[in-house]
Amino acid sequence: MMTSHDVLELADWRHVYSGKVRNLYEPSDQPSGESDRLLVVATDRVSAFDHILSPGIPDKGKILTQLSLWWFQQLAQPAEDLDPIPHHVISVDVPEQVAGRAMIVKRLQMLPVECIARGYLTGSGLKEYQASGAVTGIPLPDGLVDGSRLDPPLFTPSAKAAVGEHDENITFEQLSERVGLLRAARLQEMTLQLYRQAEEIARNAGIILADTKVEFGIDVSTGLITLGDEVLTPDSSRFWDAGDYEPGRPQLSFDKQFVRDWLSSEESGWDPASGQRPPALPEHIVEKTRQRYLEAYRRITGEEFSATPQG
Ligand code: ATP
Ligand code: MG
Repeated sequence: MMTSHDVLELADWRHVYSGKVRNLYEPSDQPSGESDRLLVVATDRVSAFDHILSPGIPDKGKILTQLSLWWFQQLAQPAEDLDPIPHHVISVDVPEQVAGRAMIVKRLQMLPVECIARGYLTGSGLKEYQASGAVTGIPLPDGLVDGSRLDPPLFTPSAKAAVGEHDENITFEQLSERVGLLRAARLQEMTLQLYRQAEEIARNAGIILADTKVEFGIDVSTGLITLGDEVLTPDSSRFWDAGDYEPGRPQLSFDKQFVRDWLSSEESGWDPASGQRPPALPEHIVEKTRQRYLEAYRRITGEEFSATPQG
């Protein structure tokens, strides 16, 4: 889905792609597709039920970019005796117009799968469990409910769907067919390590990292599986308030829950199944959602978010 309205003209960069939330650029002094770098610019767009909503959430692009950069750093210098997880970030020396919400990254050959780790059962995992007693082919004990802890955490890959279609959970065997057995095993190992590291950091900050989705690609200059995209943001993860956690019901979460709840409510007058475009978000929903993003940033990093950082 090309949403060209917030694609900016940037000196030295040529726009190549727009996803639901981010715009990608490549250096304009090199032939298309040949550079080894990309500029990833996060917008304030928010998506729900596979629609891009309006208006955006002010500062969302900056908050999520700063949070993602913070996590990349944590993962690259793990405590203990863990291997660092290589990531794609090269620098944040980006054009002024997109400062704070953009990063220059290594262009990776993205693997066409999403790597998900789940330490708690909810969302599509819960649906699958209720229908089959298993998640992506992994059988689970009877009696689990919305929010039940999964110990050990599960690796539940999914296949990236074409635009307009839902991603689909796949088994480890199906993942192996797509990327090869060795790579599949490595993706599982890296994803679970990342989850364990991040889950501990979040827990110490009063947040339950219920699940998270990451995307990896191949760095063609080294052949290494490298972490791409954004990581451990409210768009890619479920952050729950640890103080409010209680299995058996939906949890209070630091993401666009307000948006989803409002869209599903009578007040919005919209039916997600209708195929119609969703209505504009009212001001109070936008503001509440923004506050949740800020609170997640504050708790996890221990810093107040600033849209114009010093230095
Ligand atoms: P898509 O439109 O691709 O289905 P999306 O709507 O989630 O996904 P965004 O997240 O808005 O898209 O855009 C980010 C895009 O950039 C994704 O397609 C992601 O796979 C891709 N990407 C992220 N990091 C890299 C990288 N280092 N090299 C190449 N592509 C990358
Ligand atoms: Mg994405």
